[in-house]
Amino acid sequence: MGAGLKKGRRNGDPVVAIDGPAGSGKSTAARLLAWDLGWTYLDTGAIYRTLGWLAWQEGISMEDEGALVALCPRLEGLSFQWNPRGEVEVLLDGKRVTPYIRGEEPGRWASDVSRHPKVRRVLLDLQRAFAIKGPLVTEGRDTGTVVFPKARWKVFLTASLEERARRRLKEMGMGEGKEAMEGVERAIKERDEQDSQRPVAPLRKASDAMELDTTHLSPEKVVERIKKLMEEVD
Ligand code: C5P
Repeated sequence: MGAGLKKGRRNGDPVVAIDGPAGSGKSTAARLLAWDLGWTYLDTGAIYRTLGWLAWQEGISMEDEGALVALCPRLEGLSFQWNPRGEVEVLLDGKRVTPYIRGEEPGRWASDVSRHPKVRRVLLDLQRAFAIKGPLVTEGRDTGTVVFPKARWKVFLTASLEERARRRLKEMGMGEGKEAMEGVERAIKERDEQDSQRPVAPLRKASDAMELDTTHLSPEKVVERIKKLMEEVD
């Protein structure tokens, strides 16, 4: 159990904030947990991914902070919906955008647009609004440090680079050939570096988060550990 976590009460918002690098298992664990508890689910990465995709579609440079900020109000039309297979669909104005924002290329756009301080600032309220509806399970890079610093439960997931690349390839329905593995490992590493080194809201473990290495853990096991934390710190 990470530093700062003691058995007993901790005041704060009824929010489970799960952060970590690409492929660490955040999304799978957060979805399973939210589904299981019947709580609202917020994928903060999907917000940045959708912004990156909108910018790409409109020919806006990922460097143009002002133009990206001007696009942000469009994201108020973003919502998450469980499909009949128990997966989460990302909708923009009611239209399914999930297929356009998944994969490493939109991930890179997301990393590029999310570096801009003004973009991050205008998207804070949008993210926090999800917690107004009730208890929340959220995931991203800065949900425990910046978006919900008073989250009652904070988790920071890690996993080896090799395992994270393997998960990404599986997600994309691709085999684990040497070339494919190397390509995905490179893309993930570059994105991690950019996310960790940016000056605003970098990828970082909150001092009061429980750290969990998921390399050898099934998603169910990860959820079990988070639920244990929720019992201990209620
Ligand atoms: O989690 P996911 O891979 O969907 O995130 C895509 C990108 O969005 C990340 O690499 C990161 O640059 C950005 N992001 C962020 N802050 C968050 C969530 C995601 O900067 N809270």
